[in-house]
Amino acid sequence: MTLPAEAAASPTAGALHVETLAIHTGARIDGDTGAVAPPLHMTTTFLRSPDGGYTDGFVYGRSDNPNRRALEELLAVLEGAPAQSHAVAFASGLGATAAVFGALQPGDHLLFPDDVYYGVRRLAFEHFGRWGIEATPVDMADVQAVQAALRSTTRLLWLETPSNPQLKISDLQALAALAHSHGALCAVDNTWATPIATQPLLLGADVVVHSTTKYLGGHSDVTGGVVVAREAGPLLERIRLQQTVAGNIPSPFDCWLLLRSIRTLPWRVRAHSANAAAVVQMLVQHPAVARVNYPGLASHPGHAIAARQMALFGGMLSIEVHGGAEEAVEVTLRTRLFTRATSLGGVESLIEHRRSVEGALSVSPPGLLRVSVGLEHADDLVADLAQALDALA
Ligand code: PLP
Repeated sequence: MTLPAEAAASPTAGALHVETLAIHTGARIDGDTGAVAPPLHMTTTFLRSPDGGYTDGFVYGRSDNPNRRALEELLAVLEGAPAQSHAVAFASGLGATAAVFGALQPGDHLLFPDDVYYGVRRLAFEHFGRWGIEATPVDMADVQAVQAALRSTTRLLWLETPSNPQLKISDLQALAALAHSHGALCAVDNTWATPIATQPLLLGADVVVHSTTKYLGGHSDVTGGVVVAREAGPLLERIRLQQTVAGNIPSPFDCWLLLRSIRTLPWRVRAHSANAAAVVQMLVQHPAVARVNYPGLASHPGHAIAARQMALFGGMLSIEVHGGAEEAVEVTLRTRLFTRATSLGGVESLIEHRRSVEGALSVSPPGLLRVSVGLEHADDLVADLAQALDALA
């Protein structure tokens, strides 16, 4: 598979395909042992040479680490950043988000999607509100609504496409252009699409953020985040400070795990997408289902934009069942393969009643179920979800 935007990809990428880049970037044979898999560097400090210098520039664990650097190199390349130093790894996705919000000034205003991941909503209101940053939700699928919501102090458009959990699609090129014409930054949470489906930097975004806890980690066993910036300069420096000086860092082991997982990311995302398409085909015909949110559906209001900016439609979907919260929860009690749990992007399929997880700030419809389609056999997944829904029909 070739990424649609590959022509504009990183100069380090050359003519290589994403599967090859995912396996070879940041990979070095260990000089001491010949080990092909990278060693895990669980060290907090590095030897200073007699002349005062440091091997490869590594000084102290908070400042840098070989496993973290290799992970950052890989993430920068996958997102099409112009240099491998443009990625900054953090301890979680929200840690990465906080690094971007923290690069703003008190008094700045930001816009985020009206159904943004609820943790971002909490971060903006409950944490950054106290630091003088104002935030307003807006329908990011409606460019005119975004334009109308801009203030003279708006400095950041925070996008999530597909959005969590309603899978709204926003037009990255149009919104990045709008942000820039207003002197604001455009940041994209690319967690759900992954760089295998969408490369927002190549569509005009200034920064891309991931919860690497999800598809990049892929096995529900590591928490992490990353910011990748299009340009070197003050923004990237401010984001890097949150890591090296404010100390929001991932452990070397988490970086090692992530690097290993991302080696198979292109193949996993393709299989997640194929399984999701099979599940969607069943869902649109099921009498208990009132609505299916999946950008691969021709009937999805954002389908045309998604088809333009996504190479694959991904493994996430949500449905609304007839009835409401009670009926939705009932479905989660009946599935056998879809595990009733939060999070997404792992090999195992998950199902979740979003409203009861999101609490007071929730704007999710009562009957909405969020589904992370895993890598089990598609037929088994279709049969499992269908039998759980049959109880409502
Ligand atoms: N962004 C999106 C789209 C998410 O779905 C999540 C978590 O579910 C996050 C960010 C937060 O990531 P983390 O849990 O790694 O902090």
